[in-house]
Amino acid sequence: MKVIEHINRAKSTLFSMEILPPLKGKSIQSIFDGIDPLMEFKPSFVDVTYHREEYLYKKREGGYLEKVSIRKRPGTVGICAAIINKYHIDTVPHIICGGFTREETENALIDLQFLGIDNVLALRGDSIKSEPEFVPEPNGHHYAIDLVNQIKQMNNGRYMENDLADVAPTNFCIGVAGYPEKHFEAPNMISDMKHLKAKIAAGAEYIVTQMFFDNQQYFSFVNKCREMDINVPILPGLKIMTSKKQATTLSKIFKIDIPQPLLEQIEKCKTDEQAKEVGIEWCIQQSKELIQAKVPCLHFYTMGTSEVTRRVASKVF
Ligand code: FAD
Repeated sequence: MKVIEHINRAKSTLFSMEILPPLKGKSIQSIFDGIDPLMEFKPSFVDVTYHREEYLYKKREGGYLEKVSIRKRPGTVGICAAIINKYHIDTVPHIICGGFTREETENALIDLQFLGIDNVLALRGDSIKSEPEFVPEPNGHHYAIDLVNQIKQMNNGRYMENDLADVAPTNFCIGVAGYPEKHFEAPNMISDMKHLKAKIAAGAEYIVTQMFFDNQQYFSFVNKCREMDINVPILPGLKIMTSKKQATTLSKIFKIDIPQPLLEQIEKCKTDEQAKEVGIEWCIQQSKELIQAKVPCLHFYTMGTSEVTRRVASKVF
């Protein structure tokens, strides 16, 4: 079933989660071990992230350096299929512009269609470490909106080769990302939101937000969206802080603010165990307020920490 159908049918706030494929070589059991403790909250859908290639320089005989491409977390599509097979719940594979030509994107979408997957989250992806800014593949997409356009075209039965006979249109529900604190590359909030609006106009049916720790950021973002006539559901993305270090690393990696009261509480903690308790309590309060505001869904970035997600969910669902 499509994410938008889950949302439209819901009588109360839904529970959903995002998981990461395990590092290469690890078994699918690590994914199941992360999902099992959360099944009691009846997740409406599970997002599975996509991780593009990275480049390493390996020293070869004679001392020369060879540039080697590796993918540390492959398996997004296989994991989605395994989850559907085991739990009979809907999955949302993330699909990105980076590293894909349009043809490769088309083929990836055909795989998803054959697997009976109805949903995708369409993203640009970040630049790889060796590049100062995002560089699309030759004949690949530069922005998430270009990806949304391609998926929408396939939903309308238009593939890249336009002389194909008897084509089966795809039928994907498309989600996109939104940034309550602005995407870090955008020159200002209005500009970022105009691009967000364009993604919706191109056919995206809902927005999932970047993680935030101050609900006012989310409420203000939703208000701005409505003022700009962006009227699709906006799903708040929640991350539970689980260590002292995360008070600085999350802010650095995801370009988000950590509210001063949370920072002060974390700084007072002597151990990571104490910091985790602060993080759990903070997220419980965030979740309660969001549910009271009747948000469509709480979307948890589990990042391999399903036990803390279970503790939060058990207090709010
Ligand atoms: P876009 O919507 O393309 O926007 C990127 C930037 O370009 C913004 O600053 C925007 O304002 C600007 N922009 C957009 N369109 C135009 C235009 N036409 N002209 C000029 N400027 C424009 N990354 C992964 O690699 N894998 C994942 O699985 C993944 N999952 C994510 C899930 C969520 C919910 C979120 C919030 C992020 C996720 N990311 C993931 C990270 C994401 O790929 C990065 O944040 C990336 O930098 C931006 O992606 P986007 O889809 O928002 O890009």
